[in-house]
Amino acid sequence: MLRGMRPQILFPLFAGVETLKGVGPRVLPLVQKLAGPLVRDLLFLAPSGVVVRRPMTAADAVEGLTGQFEVLVDRLIVPHKPGAPIKVRASDETGFVHLIWFGGSAQHIERLVPKGQKRIVSGKVERFNNEVQIIHPDVFRPEEAGDIAAVEAVYPATQGLSSRQVRKLVQAALPHAPELPEWQDPAWLAKRRWPGWRAALGQLHAPAGEPDLEPDAPARQRLAWDELFAHQLALARRRRARQITPAPVILPGEASERLLAALPFALTGAQTQAIAEIRRDLASGEQMGRLLQGDVGSGKTAVAALALADAAASGFQAALMAPTEILARQHFQRLAPMLEAAGVTTVLLTGRDTPAERRPRLAALASGEARVAIGTHALFQDTVRFDRLGLAVIDEQHRFGVNERQRLQAKGDPRTGGVHLLTMSATPIPRTLELTQYGELDVSRLTEKPPGRTPVTTAVLPLTRIGEVAKRLKAALDGGAQAYWICPLVAESEASDLAAAEARAADLRRILGVEVGLAHGQMPGPEREAVMADFADGRTPLLVATTVVEVGVDVPNASIMVIEHADRFGLAQLHQLRGRVGRGSAASTCLLLYGGGDEGLGETARVRLETLRRTENGFEIAEEDFRLRGGGDPLGLRQSGFPAYRFADPIRHRDLLLAAADDARLVLARDPDLASPRGEAVKVLEALFDWRNDRPGVD
Ligand code: ADP
Ligand code: MG
Repeated sequence: MLRGMRPQILFPLFAGVETLKGVGPRVLPLVQKLAGPLVRDLLFLAPSGVVVRRPMTAADAVEGLTGQFEVLVDRLIVPHKPGAPIKVRASDETGFVHLIWFGGSAQHIERLVPKGQKRIVSGKVERFNNEVQIIHPDVFRPEEAGDIAAVEAVYPATQGLSSRQVRKLVQAALPHAPELPEWQDPAWLAKRRWPGWRAALGQLHAPAGEPDLEPDAPARQRLAWDELFAHQLALARRRRARQITPAPVILPGEASERLLAALPFALTGAQTQAIAEIRRDLASGEQMGRLLQGDVGSGKTAVAALALADAAASGFQAALMAPTEILARQHFQRLAPMLEAAGVTTVLLTGRDTPAERRPRLAALASGEARVAIGTHALFQDTVRFDRLGLAVIDEQHRFGVNERQRLQAKGDPRTGGVHLLTMSATPIPRTLELTQYGELDVSRLTEKPPGRTPVTTAVLPLTRIGEVAKRLKAALDGGAQAYWICPLVAESEASDLAAAEARAADLRRILGVEVGLAHGQMPGPEREAVMADFADGRTPLLVATTVVEVGVDVPNASIMVIEHADRFGLAQLHQLRGRVGRGSAASTCLLLYGGGDEGLGETARVRLETLRRTENGFEIAEEDFRLRGGGDPLGLRQSGFPAYRFADPIRHRDLLLAAADDARLVLARDPDLASPRGEAVKVLEALFDWRNDRPGVD
């Protein structure tokens, strides 16, 4: 947002932290690193804990609690040995309290607790040789006693900046927070009984106990909702900005009819609905931005193919981009004959085309003779020119960066407007992730699988039964089946994991007496694709792989999936892996091997594997996976692309997120210019969180 557009009322919050009392040149960089450059950032630094100080005497001191003692300083004991702590003996009427400092200068400590003076000391009580001691106590002069809160917020600290110093700075910043106009809907706010914004901020920094730190404390909920609402507003605005970009009007035509007739199956209800949603967008004259979510095997390709045919039928060109050579070829082999039969000239573009193959294809695209291009990254290279590109379809969209998508979309013709975008993902994600990550996209979901699938039988076994597994596997392979065998990557050392996978491949080769392919993440791409292709074409019956089994590769003959150390995978990941089988008519099996013997199985791992045994519905599994992670897997969340929220926890605040998303869309629909009084307040909120310049679009 432009600086000049920031509402004046927010100026005190957007002042630099250096304007606060107590932030000098030494502390400034520390505060900036810990909280951020602005007064707002310091105020948005939520306490991470709370300490309750209890008045105690040496006689009744309780170990493990934080005590507060009024003592007389007796003497300072400076150690002879370097590295030993400096000790101060102090006492009250009931006995001694020893104060201990590791490091720090004797001079400084002497000034803090001068001999013969009274001090109030506070800290965690420990006992050593039956003596009360406090390591690194907080020290106060008796006349400061009134300032010592019995309950104090604890802040994240950093080297050189203690929690207490942070607390002081936050307290100094609080008076700078103005009363802001209310941006929440009055009825909603009354129902939730939340405090106003400024009061919530005050409560955030004055917890009365542990419960006030919980995500469901009223002040925390209020601030979380504000944050989520501001973020959803930013996404909703982006969505609107896209919608007002004119784009070609694409309508189904004869080519679409002929393609539909050529499909060897009838569309499922979910496919029919998805194509209807896509067609509504394509016909609107506004630029489509849609995510098609559906499990592996749910039939996304047929939906995409119809959209490609629609574009061609309306006189435009369309591109379908896949992340790997093998996927692009698979799409081309399946779709090109049907599209050609429907009168749509289709070309393949990959990085491996020879110049002689490439030249006529590029010419056909530039002239408009070819209506559909299917390919890899080769599609968005500068040498590729379209005559009238109207639609870009991106398969396995998470494998592409925002730039790559934009480079393809930029190949549109400015005279016909923006290029419609359809992205596809085989990783069902929970609603919450959908909203935080793809909030500016519209979403279609394929919740139903094509008929005629035999469900995959899933069994959970200890690794100790691997001999049995090998025997059954041999029988199946002898009968013409194909199988995957997955060896997980364990974070400790990639090299040793690789060695384990290689050793496993060698074992299986020996025991089973068959060709065994090995694919892993450290292989150069083309080499790995060659191994995958051998498996896809049935030349190798067994493929040992680390987790890199190409997403989206369709090997209908593969009917067995063995996953070693299944307990080390996440639920969604296991589901993805299992989705490699059960694609043909043969009954399929997934064997989840866990543990190395009597290790047993942890509770979460047990629930995960049990969920997998119970259901094959990717959306259900995604929600469950998300729930199981609880708030406790920040790393996992970040990997899933969550924005860096300060107050909101998308798992614990799931319902708030859903409500905030609804409200954001509603507010902008009713009052697009935010001109109403509530709209004006909403603008203040937007400026307060400043999400607008955050992560651009899909990634
Ligand atoms: P996805 O890309 O969603 O993983 P695909 O589009 O590759 O799935 O479809 C998986 C398989 O299901 C393909 O072999 C496809 O021909 C088949 N298929 C798709 N839709 C249907 C349908 N409605 N009825 C029967 N089979 C279908
Ligand atoms: Mg696919």
